[in-house]
Amino acid sequence: EKIQNWKDHLVRQDEIDRYLDHGKDFIDDNAIEAEIGANQEVSPERVRAILKKAHEINLMSSKDAAALVNVTDPALRKEVYTAACEIKKHVYDNRLVTFAPLYCGSKCVNRCKYCGFRSDNNEMKRRVLTMDEIKKEAEVLAGKIGHKRLVMVYGEHPETDAQYIADSMKAVYSVKVPTKNGFGQIRRVNINAAPLPIEDLKILQEAGIGTYQVFQETYHKKTYREVHPEGTLKGNYLWRLYALHRSMDAGIDDVAVGVLFGLADWKFEVMGLVAHAADLEKRYGIGPHSVSVPRLEPAEGTDFSWVKHGVSDEDFKYLIAVLRVAIPYAGFIVTNREKPEMLDSVIDMITQRDADSRLGIGAYADAFPDEKTTSDGHQESERQQFVLNDMRSLDTVVQESIKRGHIISFCTAGYRCGRTGNKIMTLLKTGKEGHFCKMNAILTLQEYLDDFASPETKKMGDELISKELGEIEDRPADFTAAQVVELKKARKRIQNGERDLYF
Ligand code: SAM
Ligand code: SF4
Repeated sequence: EKIQNWKDHLVRQDEIDRYLDHGKDFIDDNAIEAEIGANQEVSPERVRAILKKAHEINLMSSKDAAALVNVTDPALRKEVYTAACEIKKHVYDNRLVTFAPLYCGSKCVNRCKYCGFRSDNNEMKRRVLTMDEIKKEAEVLAGKIGHKRLVMVYGEHPETDAQYIADSMKAVYSVKVPTKNGFGQIRRVNINAAPLPIEDLKILQEAGIGTYQVFQETYHKKTYREVHPEGTLKGNYLWRLYALHRSMDAGIDDVAVGVLFGLADWKFEVMGLVAHAADLEKRYGIGPHSVSVPRLEPAEGTDFSWVKHGVSDEDFKYLIAVLRVAIPYAGFIVTNREKPEMLDSVIDMITQRDADSRLGIGAYADAFPDEKTTSDGHQESERQQFVLNDMRSLDTVVQESIKRGHIISFCTAGYRCGRTGNKIMTLLKTGKEGHFCKMNAILTLQEYLDDFASPETKKMGDELISKELGEIEDRPADFTAAQVVELKKARKRIQNGERDLYF
């Protein structure tokens, strides 16, 4: 009865109908398939013209996106990849933001065919963290590993309803732990949770949510029905499709889209993501803040023999390039689901990756008991949603990034000084967002180096920061002399133990 009442509270037909256009949603399977079919012959000239237009940092038309997904010639694909790297550099410079996932509960009423948490999986050990346990996880993440940003993840269950999500976010924000030279804290919490009604989303807004992520999993309606059984909450395609529209109406204007690649044809999914961004732009004037591209991974007690659309490494890399140029203003997230080699090969196109992640419920506190500050990367599949492929430590990820000339950023300033939604979109499109972010990336990297880095990483990081400061001084068109002075002063203050300074 409790579950039924909660289900009745959640799904509201009027909060679907209000977004339909003459009774229709924005995904027309036949039209998408026809457009892919009609754009199969793509000349190199056409691809180049599309890529030239993409540099204007506007959402691509569905026709142009259809042309790009059809490219098979490796040399031409390479041109798309090069354009994707250029656009990433233009909009986000050499920054790479890092975060960690925090799984709060593995109880779920749904039966998504691909997920270890599905309710009919008896091999899963299930648990929902208490607020004290959540604080313990945050203490490890912020005090031992060195993270500042989290994505908190929940199954769909009355024990992890909107109030629980809000409380768990507040529990994380309340944690402040001493570190070697200052203190550690989580300053931005993004949420990956089930679609919620507007009333519930307002509760999350008040609790200080960063970005609200809901992945459609697949835009292909027939496939959606096959993998999300009829009658389950997640079985309602339209309730999920408009989750981010409701979020915008609840006042959360940083929203993130995603597809679980491997369920349906990747070309169709790319078109679905572009259509989703277009509908958000049409109604709210802003598209998604970020795009996630998870690929199916093995999960405990879960059969995957039904999978027909597994994406090869080569196509995966290419589809990220296409999305990067098609939704050029968005951040792109690739996670430790991928092997280190794959992550490294797409790193110049993306803006966010996780590091030192644990998916098991309560697994951070278990992996770093007492005084321990390093962990062996052990995973327990019966406690987690799926299995990770990259268990490199945050220190290693920071060091490898520095070697590539990337600044790992722990910046969380954006939403705290109102740079969200429309404001950030305008800054991103004009390339101006980068100026604030560059300065904040430098300051937050300095915090990490002084509090958590190994001696070798610290040395390399300090050198990179000094080099970056020199370059900034040589760019008077982008950074005023006063800004450079302020930035250098702030760096000194951080080196002297102050924390959380930002522009
Ligand atoms: N339960 C909520 C939902 O489904 O929206 C939110 C969290 S769910 C735990 C987070 C995401 O994990 C899902 O949206 C899905 O894309 C991804 N996921 C589920 N099973 C997966 C698997 N076997 N491999 C990779 N990603 C998976
Ligand atoms: Fe539940 Fe989300 Fe897993 Fe589906 S994907 S079974 S909704 S946790």
